Amino acid sequence: MHDYIIIGAGSAGCVLANRLSADPRVRVCVLEAGPADDFPLIHMPGAFGYFMFSKKYNWAFDAQPDPSLRNGSPLFCPRGKALGGSSSVNGMIYIRGHRSDYDHWAALGNRGWSYDDVLPYFRKSEANVRGANKYHGAEGELCVSDWESAYPISPVFLDAARQIGLPMTDDFNGEQQEGFGAYQLTIKDGRRWSAADAFLHPIAKRGNLEIITDAHVTQIDFEGKRATGVTFRSNGRQQTLRAAREVILAAGAYNSPQILMLSGIGDPHELTANGIATVHALPGVGKNLQEHPDTCAAFASKPHGGIRFTPTGVAQMASEGIKYYAANAGKLRTTITEVGGFLKSRPDADLPDVQLHALPLLFDDSGRDLNLMRRDGISCHVCVLRPKSRGTISLRSPDPAAAPVIDHKFFSDPEDMKTLVAGIRIAIKLLEAPALAPYRKKELLPGEGKRTDEEIEQACRDHMGLVYHPVGTCKMGLDEMAVVGPDLRVHGVEGLRVVDASVMPTLIGGNTNAPTIMIAEKASDMIIADREPAVLENNRTERSRALA
Ligand SMILES: Cc1cc2nc3c(=O)[nH]c(=O)nc-3n(C[C@H](O)[C@H](O)[C@H](O)COP(=O)(O)OP(=O)(O)OC[C@H]3O[C@@H](n4cnc5c(N)ncnc54)[C@H](O)[C@@H]3O)c2cc1C
Repeated sequence: MHDYIIIGAGSAGCVLANRLSADPRVRVCVLEAGPADDFPLIHMPGAFGYFMFSKKYNWAFDAQPDPSLRNGSPLFCPRGKALGGSSSVNGMIYIRGHRSDYDHWAALGNRGWSYDDVLPYFRKSEANVRGANKYHGAEGELCVSDWESAYPISPVFLDAARQIGLPMTDDFNGEQQEGFGAYQLTIKDGRRWSAADAFLHPIAKRGNLEIITDAHVTQIDFEGKRATGVTFRSNGRQQTLRAAREVILAAGAYNSPQILMLSGIGDPHELTANGIATVHALPGVGKNLQEHPDTCAAFASKPHGGIRFTPTGVAQMASEGIKYYAANAGKLRTTITEVGGFLKSRPDADLPDVQLHALPLLFDDSGRDLNLMRRDGISCHVCVLRPKSRGTISLRSPDPAAAPVIDHKFFSDPEDMKTLVAGIRIAIKLLEAPALAPYRKKELLPGEGKRTDEEIEQACRDHMGLVYHPVGTCKMGLDEMAVVGPDLRVHGVEGLRVVDASVMPTLIGGNTNAPTIMIAEKASDMIIADREPAVLENNRTERSRALA
């Protein structure tokens, strides 16, 4: 029997496995539905695009089609499926969000989650190449490096930003988030530094840690209202494992609510409709889905050393592959998104409300529109940082193998579209700056002459995407729609916590990998603190037995 069973070896699960198994007396098991992460392209930062086509390493979900977006084609929702989870396929941008995001969580009643409370946990995980300071750590496991300016157009984007008067910053995670600049990246010496690289592989041989891959958890088992273990499928066989202390659900914002519902925790109406007996009624499971809606301004361009899907472009990438493997050099050492920014779409906004990702290529449909990529191009993606729209995750069927139903309900609050259109206007200005004049050819998006709000909105709708940051579906809080409390224990049952991006009550203003790792660091401390009194009590009993 294990003390703790962790479901999912993603960004959160890898941290939990490391911290909880640090005590050799504690037995920990991690169950991961995907395979090991030994496929070489996982570790090559420049191979990001490959995983958008993979079914082995990507859950590759499709959202519910929305007739007003992409002409009704479903939005593609990639999620990592391997050791490291989404951190094994992500864009490697290291961002924490704005300090006020966490102060807002605390103001919602989540004691212990203010910025001052969580900053030590961000610093704890971090090994920043710039060294330690008030905001950054240098002693942690998660390597954070500076950009390499591998794409010649990236510094030109920075010049363009200066020319149009955008504020500039050299640290989005320091004193001031607002501004345009180069992103720091979770890359170490030209290699992706996933949560598995940082937290799992270095300790995988601990005798008290068991890591089981290709293990799809189908439900959490309960005795009354106490979680006692899990049932999973592996190699076509159903198996069960028992947890003496806790089951910790870390399957991500799409899968964690699905697993809760399959286990009888959720809205009783939805459970009954799927023939699932209710263990505990929690109507908030799967509600409150938030994601960054994203689209771009784009120009066809003259060649600039970027990425294009032409015979020459592919040949160049192949030679970059040789450079990478022969000498650990070239473009594949880094990610495609080297520069971007956090900006206010309106001068009177309190906080940056849009994020920009400036790219050395034409990127639509998560990079799966290879036709568009046949041209050289430049694009500037824009996403709404704190969308007001809320979506849902629900069960398609009681079959654990069926994908959950993902309905983002993007733009159900019209404010979000207003912010997006205002953000696209900034992106257009950036791409029209004099610095980019030598490269620009034809405007593709929103399209030549398309400058009214209505025209920009239509272009946004036709090319809508998302930034792969789903959160909120097992939200932390104290109201009746909350799924976990500030200690991340599931309300109303015992022996079960959720620890992953799904617990964020509101989406932070930025990319979500580092915040999820922070959540797992803090959760680990809370779990250990809860255990210590029992360990102390055990030791006391053993001592008095020995004395007797
Ligand atoms: C394509 C892409 C690009 C991104 N780019 C960035 C970026 O540049 N910067 C950034 O900060 N963030 C980025 N993100 C987001 C970030 O990676 C995620 O927010 C973060 O990894 C979420 O961590 P998690 O632990 O909640 O879930 P995950 O890391 O997704 O982990 C969940 C794990 O649970 C496993 N699992 C699911 N269901 C089951 C089951 N039934 N049984 C067993 N195991 C199960 C999954 O296979 C997975 O390994 C990106 C994400 C994607 C997909």
